[in-house]
Amino acid sequence: MAIERTLSIIKPDGVAKNVIGKILTRFEDAGLKIVAGRMMKLDESLAGSFYEVHKERPFYKDLVAYMVSGPVFVSVLEGENAVLKNRELMGATDPKEAAPGTIRADFADSIDANTVHGSDSLENAKKEITFFFSDL
Ligand code: ADP
Ligand code: MG
Repeated sequence: MAIERTLSIIKPDGVAKNVIGKILTRFEDAGLKIVAGRMMKLDESLAGSFYEVHKERPFYKDLVAYMVSGPVFVSVLEGENAVLKNRELMGATDPKEAAPGTIRADFADSIDANTVHGSDSLENAKKEITFFFSDL
């Protein structure tokens, strides 16, 4: 298996619930290393271009508004199969459908406030990492 890197964002609800440490511990316990990390307050332009792929979706405006509603914690995770491993730890997009024991099942309130973002492919992970950490 290949060593990969993926981008994680702890969304405003995760930061507000004071569970950054608990979420990062899940990554570490699963064998993922946090190789970069930064607390940020996104603005509309940054959040809008990050979620550009969803521009035509009906939830795009709400998604951007939500992502700028409070600070977020952005990090880069590294390890074997990091992209898929992170997606498994996160659980399904809608917390009602997320498997027990996943981050979204345990911490998320709704499909909007679903606690974490994670890259969905190696290709997107590379783009998303460069988007936030131009030196990586
Ligand atoms: P994921 O974050 O699991 O990769 P998507 O990339 O499909 O999910 O969507 C990005 C984000 O947009 C989701 O995390 C969620 O917050 C929001 N979202 C997705 N689908 C919906 C929906 N049907 N209604 C409201 N918000 C949605
Ligand atoms: Mg996605």
